[in-house]
Amino acid sequence: MKTRLRSVIILLTVILTLSSAAAAQEPPLKSIAYRLAMSRPVSHLFEVAIEVELPDELKDKALELQMPKWSPGRYAVFDFAKNVQEFRAIDGRCSTVIACAGKPTRPVTRVDDQTWSVAPSGSNMLTITYKVFANDLSGTFSQLDDRHGNYNGGCIFMYVVGHKADPVTLTIAPPKDWKIVNGRMDHAGQTEWQFPNWDIMIDTPTEIAPDWTQDDFDVDGKKYHVVVHSFGPEGGKRAALVSDIQKIVRAEVAMWGPPEFSEYTFLLHFAADDHSGDGMEHLTSTQIIEPGALAEPAIYNDMLDAVSHEFFHVWNVKRLRPFELGPWDFTRPANTRGLWVAEGFTNYYGRLMLRRAGLSDDKRFLGREAQTIKGIESAQGSKLMSAEDSSLSAPFLDDAPHSQQTNLENTAISYYPKGELVGLVMDLLIRGRTAGKSSLDDVMRRMYDEFYLKSPNNSYYLRGRGYHTDDVERVVAELGGAEFHEFFKRYVRDVQVLPYDEAFAYVGLRLVKAPASEPFNAGLALDFDDQAATIQNVRNYSPAENAGLQKNDRIVSLGGKKVTRDSWLKALARYKKGDTVPVVVKRDRRTLQKEIILGEPERYDYKIEEQPDATDSQRALRAAWLNGK
Ligand SMILES: [Zn+2]
Ligand SMILES: [Zn+2]
Repeated sequence: MKTRLRSVIILLTVILTLSSAAAAQEPPLKSIAYRLAMSRPVSHLFEVAIEVELPDELKDKALELQMPKWSPGRYAVFDFAKNVQEFRAIDGRCSTVIACAGKPTRPVTRVDDQTWSVAPSGSNMLTITYKVFANDLSGTFSQLDDRHGNYNGGCIFMYVVGHKADPVTLTIAPPKDWKIVNGRMDHAGQTEWQFPNWDIMIDTPTEIAPDWTQDDFDVDGKKYHVVVHSFGPEGGKRAALVSDIQKIVRAEVAMWGPPEFSEYTFLLHFAADDHSGDGMEHLTSTQIIEPGALAEPAIYNDMLDAVSHEFFHVWNVKRLRPFELGPWDFTRPANTRGLWVAEGFTNYYGRLMLRRAGLSDDKRFLGREAQTIKGIESAQGSKLMSAEDSSLSAPFLDDAPHSQQTNLENTAISYYPKGELVGLVMDLLIRGRTAGKSSLDDVMRRMYDEFYLKSPNNSYYLRGRGYHTDDVERVVAELGGAEFHEFFKRYVRDVQVLPYDEAFAYVGLRLVKAPASEPFNAGLALDFDDQAATIQNVRNYSPAENAGLQKNDRIVSLGGKKVTRDSWLKALARYKKGDTVPVVVKRDRRTLQKEIILGEPERYDYKIEEQPDATDSQRALRAAWLNGK
């Protein structure tokens, strides 16, 4: 109660002096200076020192520092505090963990899982030091090893509670001969930065290494930097990659208009480790990690996919954003209904932009959309979880670690593919119903204009205001017609099957659904390794569930035969509806004999094909869609 009373008094003072109801609860700190060092890369320990200068009003008050539970763009809770060690508070100024060692410390109390409280001492100057373990090459986490330091600030830098809005500075001390690069470089060799607030600092992922490369290009007067750190062979492909990225930038700028920055940096890693893969959007940069090497054609194409998606986020999500996405509360997971727009539409446009950039053709683009339709329409979760529900479930879905067993495989869908299809269908319906006068491109531009460029700032963090999904619905209805209110009711907030037929017909295409040549899976999803086929999921109410099969059962035989990745669907295809298939499984140390009675076909193939009687006007509408008119 004492602290509350004090903050009320301070708040009143602030309101009286600044005449601003939106002012922080406390006066800003006089300065907050972050210093990052990495004296022992092999230890994977980043060394953080935070020098804080307190105004006189705060020098007799405890200061709390907090490690975020998650970081923007990745919605699962990871509890970054688990990798913090050796938290100390030192009176006065000492710029590095090493320089601070041995100096007199102030008492520190661990308040909760993510918060440390430093006792007041009546002095204005305080330095907090800690180390943070980081050994994941990822847009979400960080890595320090003998090859590089690569960080996402949200899992490295604590904020001062109540002062996330205050200006901060950052100084990085790289190991000898390592160079620093990020999306906010004023000059080569830079080691110091100023940021308007902590949120912008952690929005600036940074690479520190001896051997990254940089290639530059311009589009419409803006500078773009392609930074590549390759751990595998490049096969002479870097120049082609840079040229293809330029085509993507041109296609996306052509849709949106000029981006709101003077320079932008692609931070690209080719990890050559077969498992690292991630992409993360930021205001003036993106960080993308591919698991293979630049020389591998499939990896090259995956990188272009990721670039097309992440660069689209420059507008959709980083600036035009759901209301809840910035500034953030890092003490609890983010809850927003809008990720089907933020991520789903970005998935849709990421693929469409490759087509518009000339890096994909109609066949490939439509083939991929048909695959997405197959995935969503085959998923049991599609009948249970709407696009909005999926957005609200993001903390469970977005790479969340699960120790407890879940049924999410049967109950959930991802807002990425679901939102991609909502975007695809909505785009074609708007184009069709308005006879080409409007499109989803217009909706996106209108929203960017209204909510980002023209709305008054509703926080310290960024220009404009975030949107609610009601706002999206209003803009779509304004540009596409009032019947879109029904669309939102059925396909965004409820789980009805999207109106594919109407949508594709407008552009002279049709969706064809036919039973697959191997039509049964009995409701099973299997994982294969050299030893066994293990049941990874059993669909609810399926023949496999009726037979009593369970997740983690290992299949000894199906229809009397051993199963492999290539053979098991073929084995089931020899049967027909109503037939009984004997199955032997191992569950823990028991061997069980079961019988699967097959039901209706459950596997379908989807194709998007040309309508034989497509008219010229349908074809013209299609061309406008695919070419971005
Ligand atoms: Zn690197
Ligand atoms: Zn994304």
